[in-house]
Amino acid sequence: MSVTIERSESFESLAPATGEVVATFPVHGEAEVREAVQRARKASAWWGELGFDGRRQRLRAFAGSLTRHREELLELISRENGKPRIDAFIEHVLVLEHIDWAARNARRIMKPRRVGGSLMLANIAPILEYQPLGVVGVIGPWNYPLFTPMGSIAYALAAGNAVVFKPSEYTPAVGVFLADLFREVVPEQPVFQVVTGFGDTGAALCRAGVDKLAFTGSAPTGRKIMAACAETLTPVLLELGGKDAMLVDSDADVKAAAGAALWGACANAGQTCIGVERVYVVDAVYDEFVRELTLAAKDLKAGGDDAVIGPMTMPRQLDIVREHIDEALDRGARAVVGGRESVHPPYIDPVILVDVPEDTRVMRQETFGPVLPVTRVRDIDEAVDKANRTSYGLGAAVYGKKNAYDAARRLRSGMASVNAVLAFAGFPSLPFGGVGESGFGRIHGEDGLTEFTRPKAIARQRFSTPAEMMSFDRPDWLPKVAAKLGDLRYGRKR
Ligand code: NAD
Repeated sequence: MSVTIERSESFESLAPATGEVVATFPVHGEAEVREAVQRARKASAWWGELGFDGRRQRLRAFAGSLTRHREELLELISRENGKPRIDAFIEHVLVLEHIDWAARNARRIMKPRRVGGSLMLANIAPILEYQPLGVVGVIGPWNYPLFTPMGSIAYALAAGNAVVFKPSEYTPAVGVFLADLFREVVPEQPVFQVVTGFGDTGAALCRAGVDKLAFTGSAPTGRKIMAACAETLTPVLLELGGKDAMLVDSDADVKAAAGAALWGACANAGQTCIGVERVYVVDAVYDEFVRELTLAAKDLKAGGDDAVIGPMTMPRQLDIVREHIDEALDRGARAVVGGRESVHPPYIDPVILVDVPEDTRVMRQETFGPVLPVTRVRDIDEAVDKANRTSYGLGAAVYGKKNAYDAARRLRSGMASVNAVLAFAGFPSLPFGGVGESGFGRIHGEDGLTEFTRPKAIARQRFSTPAEMMSFDRPDWLPKVAAKLGDLRYGRKR
């Protein structure tokens, strides 16, 4: 399958490990993006008419095609993003689950259903259904070029919408590959299209008349998206960054917690929105935790044969990670694993920091690299308190027994795992999204599907009655009876 398109204004996507050109893509301008949305509008009517069964069958065929092309796709993700194949494989497995869940559950979630009645309007049946929005614009990041956008795309398609997707300029080939595969199972209409380019192409999509814009990326870009969408009152779903914390209580399985913290911080070279970016460990097990973490991390290196940590995808990100490490060390933090020398472009080896001042950038801002600051706290309450002192609120993890679940509930985050890391992302039935600067709206699950629908409320008369309250012909006795019923029902409530 070819992913190269010749155009005058174009850009190249590069392999982060080698700098080689992966493919060349057009920079789509405003007019082309608008045309894509117009085509999608027509396609959405056709896709809508296909009905739940028709769409389910096509989406399952898409999952089948993704499975049959797995090796090609993993190779492409690995080349273009830089991540080891195993990380690409995890994305792939999760995506199949999500497509299947969305396809199977769309009818149950959206179909018309009778909802609770009203005493005053007993002859009328209230019916609620969820209808597709029409055309959904999706703008994606590069860090999980398959899993992340598909969290919006699969659910939007299953809900009966057409999709126009603008992948990251760092991973356009993956986006184009997905649309090519989809076109093979839905050749009739352009139900899922891709436009390529930089931020301007994304901004054009915001203004192109889509019915909703689902964005996954950084908080600063999220603000720009919201401002652009405000011009046309286009609703937005924002999946933004995070500064996720792991909490380790005194009754935790410390070795398991250390292993999970290391993987959660360093998998995908730390470029994970729900990666572990801070650890708060209760005093009683702090030394043991740091010992276990150091032991587990000391031989872990980025790059090389059979690498488990790949190169950093964006050259710019290397500088941010370096700055975070340098500032922490300059301000008195200690590196128990790695240090300044761990940054050797395009790779970064794991860095574990202790005694890090709370007001350093590595504790406050998204680092997005394999760097983990570990902080000692008095007890689990202090851990919750410190973890919550962030403008972000995406995911979190708690290790412990007696109070772990309660602590997970008290964390100001959209999601949390207990005695696991990142586990919530693996369940198509669980909504995924954040609070605060991590964004709003949800992908995945029932909430994620209804994000791409509008509720339609219909009140349908079942039988006529001579005594209509909502009529000028109402009999005088009717309000009195209604008042009496109201007194009986609510009057004695205090
Ligand atoms: P980014 O914000 O730089 O870019 C994301 C996308 O927005 C790209 O496709 C880019 O071309 C586009 N864009 C840039 N400027 C734009 C503009 N003015 N208008 C419209 N579109 C514009 O993010 P990134 O560096 O690609 O991704 C990393 C970020 O994504 C991290 O902050 C990470 O935490 C976050 N992320 C969040 C989730 C989540 O589900 N919450 C998942 C993955 C990544």
